[in-house]
Amino acid sequence: MTERVIPIADQRYAAALPHIPTLPIASTGLLADTLGRPLRDLRISVTDRCNFRCGYCMPKEVFDKNYQFLPQGSLLSFEEITRTARLFAAHGVQKIRLTGGEPLLRKNIEVLIAMLSELATPDGEPLDLTLTTNGSLLAKKAQALKDAGLQRVTVSLDALDDGIFRRMNDADFPVADVLAGIEAAERVGLGPIKVNMVVQRGTNDHQIVPMAQHFREHLGGKIILRFIEYMDVGETNGWRMDQVLPSAQVIARIHDAFPVRAIDANYTGETAERWRYADGRGELGVISSVTQAFCHDCNRARLSTEGKLFLCLFATQGHDLRSLLRSDYSDEQIASAIGLIWQGRGDRYSELRASQQADTGSGAKRVEMHYIGG
Ligand code: SAM
Ligand code: SF4
Ligand code: SF4
Repeated sequence: MTERVIPIADQRYAAALPHIPTLPIASTGLLADTLGRPLRDLRISVTDRCNFRCGYCMPKEVFDKNYQFLPQGSLLSFEEITRTARLFAAHGVQKIRLTGGEPLLRKNIEVLIAMLSELATPDGEPLDLTLTTNGSLLAKKAQALKDAGLQRVTVSLDALDDGIFRRMNDADFPVADVLAGIEAAERVGLGPIKVNMVVQRGTNDHQIVPMAQHFREHLGGKIILRFIEYMDVGETNGWRMDQVLPSAQVIARIHDAFPVRAIDANYTGETAERWRYADGRGELGVISSVTQAFCHDCNRARLSTEGKLFLCLFATQGHDLRSLLRSDYSDEQIASAIGLIWQGRGDRYSELRASQQADTGSGAKRVEMHYIGG
């Protein structure tokens, strides 16, 4: 496969111009990468902007008033996103997650959701359509999202203590408003709701048990709380291994307070390891992206706000699908280009990090989380 790295005016990460193969790659839903991994999950970032400044994602010192976010014309339009998503669904994607930045800041996001909710798998099944949000606008938007066809939401919440939460979002945003958003989402039927907490040792690890207790005791124990290991994504968060609290320790702390037992995964490639409270008060999960790499069955592709396809959260280079979408290529040609890219995928950064083979040094710039989504 020949790839050309092309400079683009608003370019912030390297991008290769995708190659259109001479022989079409049919959309059979059976695509596999070089490690035999299928393509099942597409995460679409709909904006690189956010109203929070979580230190592990968009530290204020970097993402200040001088930071140049993508100009409007760079963003994929709703039509471009939907067309791309349709081609991915034909290749086997069953689940679409909208993310960002903060996806609820994208104007008329419910219009995009309505368009995506029309898509189906090759077997005619509706796609699993979900969205990850910081919850700040959820109380206001939950009903419109549900009406548009969104099935579920995942809400990020790093602490119950208002002072700690305000410091962590670095926008002085109160925890009560996020909790109100979660309640509204539950009320309108955007469940099962997952709540994601990124655990940073020394910053919010003492919030683990209070968070577990809260979600056991509220909303009928229906919320699934998941603890995420703090990851070395991007180049700006100053990540250090000693800030990571291994999931095994998270579970040990919870188990001391409320006994838990492990339960089976829902499906292959599920990122969270699942646990259930022994007294039946609901489910929780841990996502051990650092201490237990799950690259071997990683079936996720990521589409950036400006239409670059990334094959790994830790990629340094994307594939510029937008340039194809804005040329005269047919659906078949673009689908073939996507097929070829996936067939060439060999990414497994977390496994290599674990075996200390990953290039964690300078070199090419790693993509930022707010740009590519979680
Ligand atoms: N703004 C939305 C939100 O916060 O839910 C969606 C985008 S955010 C980039 C998606 C997820 O990535 C969030 O759950 C966030 O906590 C997580 N995240 C961001 N930076 C991270 C890091 N360094 N390590 C682990 N998770 C991170
Ligand atoms: Fe914004 Fe989400 Fe990143 Fe926090 S994690 S800064 S809410 S994009
Ligand atoms: Fe997937 Fe890359 Fe994460 Fe491994 S490091 S699980 S390949 S996104």
